[in-house]
Amino acid sequence: MELTSFGLEEHAYEPALFHPFPDRRYLLYRNDSAANQREIARYSKADAEALPRYEKFWEGFAELLEPTLLAPPVPLADLAAFVNTPEAEDFVRKILFLSIAEVLDEYFESDEVKASLATSAVAGTMAGPRTPGTAFVLGHHTLGDIGGQKGAWGWPRGGMGAISESLARAARHHGADVRTGAEVRQILVRDGRAIGVELADGRTLESRVVLSNADPKRTFLRLVRSEHLPSEFVGAIERIRFESSSFKLNLALRELPDFAAIPGIAPQPHHRAIIDIAPSLDYLERAYDDAKRGHPSEEPFLEFVMQSANDPTVAPPGMHTMTISAKFAPFDLRRGSWDSEAEPFAERILDVLERYAPNIRKAIVARQWLTPLDMEREYGLTRGDVFHGAILPHQMFSFRPVPGWSSYRMPVRGLYLCGAGAHPGGGVIGAPGHNAAMAVLEDWPKLRTGSP
Ligand SMILES: Cc1cc2nc3c(=O)[nH]c(=O)nc-3n(C[C@H](O)[C@H](O)[C@H](O)COP(=O)(O)OP(=O)(O)OC[C@H]3O[C@@H](n4cnc5c(N)ncnc54)[C@H](O)[C@@H]3O)c2cc1C
Repeated sequence: MELTSFGLEEHAYEPALFHPFPDRRYLLYRNDSAANQREIARYSKADAEALPRYEKFWEGFAELLEPTLLAPPVPLADLAAFVNTPEAEDFVRKILFLSIAEVLDEYFESDEVKASLATSAVAGTMAGPRTPGTAFVLGHHTLGDIGGQKGAWGWPRGGMGAISESLARAARHHGADVRTGAEVRQILVRDGRAIGVELADGRTLESRVVLSNADPKRTFLRLVRSEHLPSEFVGAIERIRFESSSFKLNLALRELPDFAAIPGIAPQPHHRAIIDIAPSLDYLERAYDDAKRGHPSEEPFLEFVMQSANDPTVAPPGMHTMTISAKFAPFDLRRGSWDSEAEPFAERILDVLERYAPNIRKAIVARQWLTPLDMEREYGLTRGDVFHGAILPHQMFSFRPVPGWSSYRMPVRGLYLCGAGAHPGGGVIGAPGHNAAMAVLEDWPKLRTGSP
């Protein structure tokens, strides 16, 4: 969509990751393998030597999966055809069935190194580092590139809204009419065919095609009346594993965090990185254990960035923004509700952060939180699931959103699922939208004339 010519400016995080430990040690990763080897060698020489082998493993993952992203999912039988040597079989066994802890154990000995490399395997996913399938989740997050930097994570100048704005500008340039704040109450269906939408204000918009990037549960359990759908399909949609995992705490700061590991409030490279607080695999596993029993973690796993350290356009001069994603925030709470539990959880997040950056509380000018319930209420994300359904392997490829319906074409003719609930899943990647658009273009000659 040539988004750069419509104003999108994206950058890879550099340094890529800052991982401080409670004893003031830290790991600072760069987009540079040799530099990372030197960093890891401070913890274990053997681990530093193992890093290139580990990176090669994930390069193999990307080589296998990246070509499948911008196309409908390859049926399992076709995938199986690739598994024709003992090495390929073992590789597939690892990426589909192992936990990230098992993969890391094969390469590394230092628990600090393992913890720092495990975090994206459980980010946005209600699973611990010892849950089977989390190796795949990590692989999913390493796909793609930012400005040619393979596997890097990036940020857009102006904040995440800049992506939506550039998409809207590109769409308008090509003749689209973009309406925001227009809630759809119902997808209208007649004779098994989508004929438009009804908005919450009662207006209707007629159309030959409807594409929904609302999540599959919202689309098929709320927006399409069940009488228009096969009951087995509705049952399968009901059974998709939707689990919230993230609690957002946004802070406006008068100064940067002063980390005990690298002291100072003047901007330094580590302030520009993604920052993880997860000192060990056991810490991550405990944080998940609490959540699976319905309690927001006693000691949460935190992942955060200070956007203003990279992008001065998002805060007034001298001031800073910090967005914290606290993982393992279950949607269903054993005690209380998110409306009462949000503040105590936000305080626990700050308690944890204070151990690493003691100035954090006094630096706060304002704070705002978004619980999984808020994400459902405000963003329409069912159960606060940021990926429209877990991205564990049993819900990927031709199993997404549900087996038998992975081609973006849904049981109602002219209705397409085009968001993260479809292949290849969640993340700011645009791939489900691309693939759904291709399906519509393929079908357009028939859709246009209304023929079956
Ligand atoms: C807190 C959080 C942190 C995340 N962090 C990252 C990250 O660091 N990296 C990354 O790659 N991904 C991240 N993600 C995931 C990523 O944002 C999603 O996977 C991605 O936005 C999915 O895009 P989408 O267009 O499919 O769906 P969405 O972005 O969810 O868009 C769906 C849209 O449908 C709208 N909608 C729903 N119901 C209706 C209705 N009835 N009428 C009209 N509109 C409706 C919603 O308001 C929403 O705008 C994060 C998500 C969250 C919530």
